[in-house]
Amino acid sequence: MQVHQIIRSRPNADIVTVVPGTKVGDAARVLAERRIGAVIVSKDGKKPLGILSERDIVRDLGRRGPACLDEPVDTLMTRNLVSCAPDDLADTVLERMTAGRFRHMPVMEGGKMIGIISIGDVVAARLSELAMEKDALTGMIMGN
Ligand code: AMP
Repeated sequence: MQVHQIIRSRPNADIVTVVPGTKVGDAARVLAERRIGAVIVSKDGKKPLGILSERDIVRDLGRRGPACLDEPVDTLMTRNLVSCAPDDLADTVLERMTAGRFRHMPVMEGGKMIGIISIGDVVAARLSELAMEKDALTGMIMGN
């Protein structure tokens, strides 16, 4: 299974971004309202400048307290983004996320961001693929 099959099959596949300079508290509100775990920081919605995940916010809240909520996302976001391509395999993405200990990845095509994929999307897609394979094999064995 390839990444483009997962982002196409996912309902609500729009990319949630905030612009640089957005306050961390406002980004946290976006995460809560959209029920997502990370937001891409981008000026134009196409070129990602960084990613801010709930982990970045919680880590800084634990270290420095609520003062971080008034700071721009630029101070907390991860700039060194690992991305994937639409024709990357789901298993490869899963391996990269596991090795890098992160759960989100922008999907890039021709230098533009065309989607974002989370570890939950990949796991759900793989589970449904495995269930279909199991049914097909069971059918073959039972002669259905
Ligand atoms: P997550 O597991 O996605 O909530 O993120 C865990 C940490 O990895 C946070 O510091 C994020 O900013 C960072 N992170 C999330 N996604 C990526 C990515 N695709 N590339 C690099 N760092 C990331």
